[in-house]
Amino acid sequence: MLTGKTALVTGSTSGIGLGIARTLALHGARVMLNGFGDVAQALGVVREFDPGAAHHGADVSRPADIETMVRACEEQFGCLDILVNNAGIQHVANVEDFPVERWDAIMAINLSSAFHAMRCALPGMKRRGWGRVINIASAHGLVASAGKSAYVAAKHGIVGLTKAAALENATSGVTVNAICPGWVLTPLVQKQVDARAARDGVDDAEAKRRLLADKQPSLRFTTPEQLAELAVFLCSPAADNVMGVAWQMDGGWTAQ
Ligand code: NAD
Repeated sequence: MLTGKTALVTGSTSGIGLGIARTLALHGARVMLNGFGDVAQALGVVREFDPGAAHHGADVSRPADIETMVRACEEQFGCLDILVNNAGIQHVANVEDFPVERWDAIMAINLSSAFHAMRCALPGMKRRGWGRVINIASAHGLVASAGKSAYVAAKHGIVGLTKAAALENATSGVTVNAICPGWVLTPLVQKQVDARAARDGVDDAEAKRRLLADKQPSLRFTTPEQLAELAVFLCSPAADNVMGVAWQMDGGWTAQ
């Protein structure tokens, strides 16, 4: 279904981004990965379906890096059709204890990076009359949790950014939407599981159960593959008129 389309997925060496990149490739897209860590392993996963998959090492906290990455994608693949703004980090602390440097990093990586990537990618999409921007927000784009002020502010911000950009592009053939996952068992969440296990003096399985029970009525993690299929739907012709949504896949988290 995505044959002939090209995709850039930020933060796709791990977790949700890697799941989305792999699934976009499975559906025929040519994919550029981005992110740190085990790049070779991530490329191996995606090259099963897209032998030409590439990686760009941009640090998305740096606007100039983002511009270079978008241009590299356009040059290497000829265009950029699908932009998935997924890179994100977390830090948990109350406002008065929140390290200023962590606040700035979360704003840069979880929010401003999406603005910069869209700023660079939208002109090409509009010229060609087709494009998809998918911003990975969070249940925390819709509701808050204590201790996550920067993350919640950035994710609420990305939901607002998504709506504004969707309206600006409503007649252009480019859609802009957000996906709002609940708990997904990735390295980002495993750190919070570990912290919960240490705090409560329980094992890994019990810490996961408690984390889910606090927020996610389904008591099951959403998987990267499930989120990826939603992203594929948003790229499909059936979603041509889906614009500016913040689509939950959160096991009932935000229905409460
Ligand atoms: P993860 O830690 O598994 O992956 C994060 C990715 O971002 C990695 O590839 C990492 O290398 C990359 N990254 C981090 N900083 C970067 C930077 N400065 N420049 C470039 N790449 C960078 O995390 P994940 O859980 O897969 O999270 C992906 C997205 O999904 C994030 O935006 C996160 O907020 C969101 N999200 C996750 C959950 C969850 O439960 N895991 C829930 C809701 C939303």
